[in-house]
Amino acid sequence: GATIGILGGGQLGRMLSVAASRLGYRTHIFEPGAAPAADVAHQVTTAPYSDEAALRAFAASVDVITYEFENIPTSALDILESLKPIRPNRRTLAVSQDRIAEKSYLNDLGLQTAPWAQVDSEDDLRAAVEKLGLPAILKTTRLGYDGKGQFKLTSPDQIPEAWAAMRGAASVLEGFVAFEREVSIIAARGLDGSVSAFDPGENVHSEGILRTTTVPARLTPSQRSDAVLLAAKILNSLDYVGVMGVELFVTRAGLLVNEIAPRVHNSGHWTQQGCTVDQFEQHIRAVAGLPLGDGTRYADVVMENLIGDDMDRVPALLRERNVAVHLYGKGEARPGRKMGHINRIVKG
Ligand code: ATP
Ligand code: MG
Ligand code: MG
Repeated sequence: GATIGILGGGQLGRMLSVAASRLGYRTHIFEPGAAPAADVAHQVTTAPYSDEAALRAFAASVDVITYEFENIPTSALDILESLKPIRPNRRTLAVSQDRIAEKSYLNDLGLQTAPWAQVDSEDDLRAAVEKLGLPAILKTTRLGYDGKGQFKLTSPDQIPEAWAAMRGAASVLEGFVAFEREVSIIAARGLDGSVSAFDPGENVHSEGILRTTTVPARLTPSQRSDAVLLAAKILNSLDYVGVMGVELFVTRAGLLVNEIAPRVHNSGHWTQQGCTVDQFEQHIRAVAGLPLGDGTRYADVVMENLIGDDMDRVPALLRERNVAVHLYGKGEARPGRKMGHINRIVKG
């Protein structure tokens, strides 16, 4: 049988690997750091992305390469791509690795984002604050996740402190969006170009980390169709293959795109209990060239992340009706660390 290569050995790589196994594939996970959640794969390579021999051996052992994490160094991608197909494609990675490239791409497609300005110095920041007003959020353009590398400015007095927090990294200032709510749409595109979207989920974050996703989201029918149409527009324009998460701000002026994630997404975990085919299987189907599955939602679900010492609640959660518990096998439950999640069926 075929083998699917997965870059990244966190929980998303783990759940992709399980889904691939269920379809009869073998999986090989490549992970440069510790791979606490990768033990379900058939093979795991632990090596840095600078290890060319390890990358070549990994590529030789697989039929197609996908990833759970978009910040893979270009040099490693160049080597891998010369040997095996990478899905989703390189163009998507280039766009999504850099917040400025991403926002420019989305704006060029005619999609709305928060107002933004490039910031490469304290003087740039001063000018950007002048232009966009406050409050605003300063973010590094690369490598941020779970709200890391971000600084919210509410007063011009904070300009030096905010710029210092970026440690000299290329940054972007975003106007603060007074959104009504946050939603995301998880959509898939197959190798044959067919597109299928899951029902949008409503997301609650705190301290930059996703806490819960609820389906159905509170959206009007026209917002719902806008979400599907804009996701399809992004996937088609990138000639995308796989599952993508699109994070949206719902405002009176319409839907704004916060960011895109070229992979399965935390806010899509509800699909494991809410759909016949979940986001992980859908992604594997897409990258393996199988037809996309039926992602119709058949239940109302609340997904809740288990972060840090939320793990203390697991014994009680295991006794609850209508609750599916998913644990990532990560070991130590440090504050802010995603250890697992639950899907609670609230209406079947
Ligand atoms: P991840 O990739 O893990 O989703 P991230 O570090 O890329 O996180 P963002 O998605 O940019 O972070 O921001 C995290 C959260 O902070 C958003 O979901 C939203 O709640 C809030 N936020 C970010 N940017 C803005 C903005 N311009 N206006 C209002 N709120 C924002
Ligand atoms: Mg992000
Ligand atoms: Mg985000």
